[in-house]
Amino acid sequence: MCQHCEKAPCEYVCPVNATVHSPDGLNEMIYNRCIGTRFCSNNCPYKVRRFNFLLYNDTHMPETLKMIHNPNVSVRGRGVMEKCTYCVQRIRTAEIDARIGQRHIREGEVRTACQIACPTGAIVFGLLSEPASPVSVLQEQERSYGVLQAELGTAPRTRYLANLFNPNPELEKT
Ligand code: SF4
Repeated sequence: MCQHCEKAPCEYVCPVNATVHSPDGLNEMIYNRCIGTRFCSNNCPYKVRRFNFLLYNDTHMPETLKMIHNPNVSVRGRGVMEKCTYCVQRIRTAEIDARIGQRHIREGEVRTACQIACPTGAIVFGLLSEPASPVSVLQEQERSYGVLQAELGTAPRTRYLANLFNPNPELEKT
């Protein structure tokens, strides 16, 4: 899935600005603007982008698998670059609701599709601007790391928690 790099290599290379950075830190994909050069896909070191060529994916998939595609993408018929957007339509809907209610968006108000679908609760999404939010607390842990961050300097927003296997105190002494 897209790592939502703060310094995203995919953004510099799009000639029509179809992939841009949002003020709230998303790497946005503006589907209607995409003309299919695929430069973004070539320049993404994580290889998370797929060009959905003339609904190719939909015609070769059973009905249940089609459900994994974002139904809000309306331009698949002419081919479009697709990737994880952190369920941006849910975020924007919550923002509009918050604006109508003249309040700030609440922590936990937006839950991504993968977060809801994961039976073990392995995916946490929330406000990094709230220091006490679960996602902020987890990202502050020592075990939190961004994939290839040291090698690429892309500053990915998606972070993972390193797994610890049977730490041996004898080895730490050496
Ligand atoms: Fe762009 Fe790839 Fe980084 Fe996502 S993971 S922001 S597509 S460079």
